[in-house]
Amino acid sequence: MKHANLAIFIPFAGCPHQCSFCDQHLITGAQRMPSIQLIEDMIKLCVSRPNHRRDLAQIAFFGGSFTCIPKEQMIALLEAASPYVEKGLFSGIRISTRPDGINEEMLNLLKKYHVTSIELGAQSMDPAVLQAARRGHTPEDTIQASKQIKDAGFTLGLQMLPGLPLDTPEKALDTAMRLIALKPQEMRVYPAVVFPGTSLYEQYKNGSYRPLSVDEALQWTIPIADEILKHKITLLKVGLHQADGAVAGAFHPAFGEMVRTGVFNKRLLERLPQKGVYTIKVHPKELSIALGQKRSNLDYWKSLGYELHFSPDTTAEFII
Ligand code: SF4
Repeated sequence: MKHANLAIFIPFAGCPHQCSFCDQHLITGAQRMPSIQLIEDMIKLCVSRPNHRRDLAQIAFFGGSFTCIPKEQMIALLEAASPYVEKGLFSGIRISTRPDGINEEMLNLLKKYHVTSIELGAQSMDPAVLQAARRGHTPEDTIQASKQIKDAGFTLGLQMLPGLPLDTPEKALDTAMRLIALKPQEMRVYPAVVFPGTSLYEQYKNGSYRPLSVDEALQWTIPIADEILKHKITLLKVGLHQADGAVAGAFHPAFGEMVRTGVFNKRLLERLPQKGVYTIKVHPKELSIALGQKRSNLDYWKSLGYELHFSPDTTAEFII
């Protein structure tokens, strides 16, 4: 089930170094670590809203390596948030962190403070891609941390970042399959974009890195999203939702929708081997995906030699 999170951004908190692609100030829009007072104010404001869903909402610490924050500071953050879970005003706490920031002692501590969901930045399962991105961890760290998180009963989210230096469509799909094999409940797929001030930006400027175009990123991401959805894993997000300040790469405000239309097309094509004219019954909730941005998907099908008509029908099976 999708959770309505109260996102609290803690830019770069706990990060042992800056990964080549990352600028959390630009990605999250947050310039500094929020004070405990500000966190409590944000939580109270969230709770006071009439549409607050205490059964769904989580307090989410994003934008850093939560479990690598100095212990005292990390506990202060958890102590600010956990009483609101104890009072039943939130369903739990969500954190994001690095695969090498997980161990049993840490998981016990997180459990004590009502952390329920842990998202790991896996990024790639190819050692050379990880090394070039200056991640400082290995694919084995991701495998081990995922197992520990699942065994301890947390919800596991895995994030991957296709299109980094040395990555290929084959490596990215292999990463997705290896992450899927770890049985996360949730995944995020963010094709790499270039932020100024990062070492990826330097590589882009000196011509040693060419970021993916939107079309390339779609070609890479559609088979990945197809596999994730096939395995009944919740696809929390595809593409950065906020890329203000990104200077290059596959950023598009409707990227997620375009990926879903691509998955829809891939699956429909498997059912329509012969070119021709078809009327396809589509569930109304899937109609916008079927039609695509500004109904452009009809033109796409025409270019393949099909004339498709989508007819909304509440009894139609979902295609994706
Ligand atoms: S990618 Fe994660 S670990 Fe690396 S600098 Fe960004 S927030 Fe920190």
